[in-house]
Amino acid sequence: LTDRLGNALRSLRGQAKLTEENMTESLQEVRKALLAADVHFRVAREFIDRVAKQCEGQAVLKSVTPGQMIVKIIHDELVSLLGEGSTALEDKKPLRVLLLGLQGSGKTTFAGKLALHLRKNGYTPAVIACDVYRPAAIDQLETLARDNDILFYGERDSKNVRKIGRNGWEWAKEQGADAIIFDTAGRLQIDEPLVKEVVDLKKEVQPDESILVADAALGQEAVNVAKTFHEAVGLTGIALSKLDGDTRGGAALSMKAIAQVPIKFLGTGEKVTDLEVFHPDRLAGRILGMGDVVSLVEKAQDTIDEDEAKRMAEKMQRAEFNFEDFLSQMQAVKKMGSLGGLMKMMPGMGNVEVGDKEEKKLKHTEALIQSMTLQERQNPQLLNGSRRARISRGAGLPVKDLNALIKQFQQMKKMMRMMKGPKARKMMKKMQK
Ligand code: GDP
Ligand code: MG
Repeated sequence: LTDRLGNALRSLRGQAKLTEENMTESLQEVRKALLAADVHFRVAREFIDRVAKQCEGQAVLKSVTPGQMIVKIIHDELVSLLGEGSTALEDKKPLRVLLLGLQGSGKTTFAGKLALHLRKNGYTPAVIACDVYRPAAIDQLETLARDNDILFYGERDSKNVRKIGRNGWEWAKEQGADAIIFDTAGRLQIDEPLVKEVVDLKKEVQPDESILVADAALGQEAVNVAKTFHEAVGLTGIALSKLDGDTRGGAALSMKAIAQVPIKFLGTGEKVTDLEVFHPDRLAGRILGMGDVVSLVEKAQDTIDEDEAKRMAEKMQRAEFNFEDFLSQMQAVKKMGSLGGLMKMMPGMGNVEVGDKEEKKLKHTEALIQSMTLQERQNPQLLNGSRRARISRGAGLPVKDLNALIKQFQQMKKMMRMMKGPKARKMMKKMQK
């Protein structure tokens, strides 16, 4: 998904003028990317329609390219779609939570994660083993509970899930628990006996929350699972597990849109602490797979003044660019955060490591320029030997660093001079955009 959506968005961002035609084309690309990410075709279509409508109604901001506007609109739409409904658990004591899901989806693991999460929020949790088909399942929950000091109830000689649920509930109350989590059995597929069992258990324990634990890697199939469970049992939320894999979570969007059940938690690993309370904006960013483009756009809006950028480009064109300009450009970039932070926010650049070395080099460059007088910055040809010695002493850096900077600067200017003329002007125009 990352690649496809990344490409679609990149081509959008590259466009200076947004016409109806190229917008439709680009949104088609976004739609394809969503489909490739396991987003249901109907959801993808409706989503694109919403984005298109939004785009029509928006005035394009002066300092951002229209493409970036669209990216932001897409992001905001995703957030609003993912965030509909309540993403928090019922706020009550005692709280009863029924966990549902296919075999291997991560229910038992999530039972432990949820217990710890609730304990952190002032509850005394207990877990009840209602998976009676595999003795190992009861052991698994018991071990998990023991390792984390969580109250545990299970019955090894009974197959009556309803009764176990009832007994477990009574027992947990006696123990002083006020958050009771029922871990159930799953099957490889949803079938009638499974549905009947959970419906029965639900009637017996009257849960406040019925949460489907769904494996994010299931993709499209997860949507059917969510829909079927919701129709048969009634769900109050979804916990999407295994988001630490390479899946981008496109299924979440479909589950949310089709099953109409809010996502409440994300499982991000096998450990009991690998749980995230669901934040729509984070998942939206992940689905878009583009780093935090939106906040980058917002930051850029704040910090880069378009007129200033234009003036700078013109100066470059006339090869009048001096150290003073160099410094103010560096500072504009710095206002947007560290170079490393900046790279992380750029689409496709998330993995580019900006090491301490590069950051340090920038700092040194800045220190050297700041040690020059204004006159020297504006007229680099003044920089003779004694001035160079003074400047490098002032910056606390060896003179060879300053020499290297001046050499680099002169080469840059030479290039700028070579780039005068109509062809170069065209290129500069492009760069300005
Ligand atoms: P259940 O059959 O639904 O109870 O599923 P389990 O809780 O036993 O989990 C099945 C497997 O998935 C186990 O190996 C878990 O360690 C693993 N698992 C559960 N949640 C996650 C998760 O969020 N990330 C990863 N990577 N593995 C998980
Ligand atoms: Mg289990």
